[in-house]
Amino acid sequence: MKTSRAAVLTQFENPLELKEFPLPQTIEPGAALVKVKLAGICGTDVHLWHGQLPIPLPVILGHETVGVIEEKGDALRTDWLGQPLSAGDRITWSSSINCDECYYCRVKPQPTRCLKRKAYGISYDCSVAPHLTGGYADYIYLRPGTAIFKIPEQLPTEAVVGAGCALVTSLHGIERIGVSMGDNVLIQGSGPVGLASLAVAKASGAAQIIVFGGPPHRLEWAKRFGADVCVDIAESSVEERKAKLLELTGGFGVDVVLECVGIPEAVVEGIELCRDGGRYLVLGHYGNAGMVQFNPHIITRKQLTMAGSWGFEPRHTQAALKFLSRTRTQFPFEQLVSQTFPLEQAFEALQATAAWSTAKSAIAP
Ligand SMILES: [Zn+2]
Ligand SMILES: [Zn+2]
Repeated sequence: MKTSRAAVLTQFENPLELKEFPLPQTIEPGAALVKVKLAGICGTDVHLWHGQLPIPLPVILGHETVGVIEEKGDALRTDWLGQPLSAGDRITWSSSINCDECYYCRVKPQPTRCLKRKAYGISYDCSVAPHLTGGYADYIYLRPGTAIFKIPEQLPTEAVVGAGCALVTSLHGIERIGVSMGDNVLIQGSGPVGLASLAVAKASGAAQIIVFGGPPHRLEWAKRFGADVCVDIAESSVEERKAKLLELTGGFGVDVVLECVGIPEAVVEGIELCRDGGRYLVLGHYGNAGMVQFNPHIITRKQLTMAGSWGFEPRHTQAALKFLSRTRTQFPFEQLVSQTFPLEQAFEALQATAAWSTAKSAIAP
């Protein structure tokens, strides 16, 4: 019997264990068995490892993956866009599947809040067949209903993984809050979501982009992605940052703030930095980081629009692949993958992400 290795999270905050699982003996009509080429490590994986989100154990992490179709069911003839699919094709896929039946799928369409949403690398117990449900493995089994996308030939695997779920998350978030031609934009945070939001804001026509973030190697990336001004949060106080931002915006504040930090205090700081009638997007709070005190008077007085955004839909994956193909020379997503690890070192890859020591770590099984 053929098997696949996988790095398994069996207990929160413990090293990942390398285990072997049998490959499925039959592939369902709409399913595919995919050989993993490159699996990105997302910041969310670190939160999952700590047990900060409710997930089943054991689990194979990895929700930003590129692979090659090894074998597919007969009914799986095309990708999500109708392009013919065959064994050997290089693909990526939307990490989550929604049910198409619930209140949020049908009545109040917000598929990212589907009541039965399931995500590869997050919500499948890997002790149950078909076992191979995350990217940190030699193979992954894509269930019927997965939104699969053939990757354009000229688009490198590293670009897709380097952009990872950060780019699709940013595309969805910025769609909800809007960035217009000529806007002054503040991005709080210079991690993967901050950098991706910077790219999307820039491509949307933002006139000036200011980044509050750190550490310095991440701010260097922000500059390479086109930030006009970067401020290291470790080297400045809240008051100093506010003074700098007002100086850069004629004393008014920015049109839009994109929060990509995940620390509640950042929101308190950020809403003060919008101009009157400005917009504020809370994008970075995937984990529940707890409470914070703030003054709602600011929202009323400044007439702010605030929005949240959770995950993404398959159409954002499609948009991300198009975006990457079109802007390859402008935004160096592929160079973000600065370190790849073999599958045996999946835990080291996860630790590198937790320590922010690499721009983006990935596993090449
Ligand atoms: Zn992610
Ligand atoms: Zn649903």
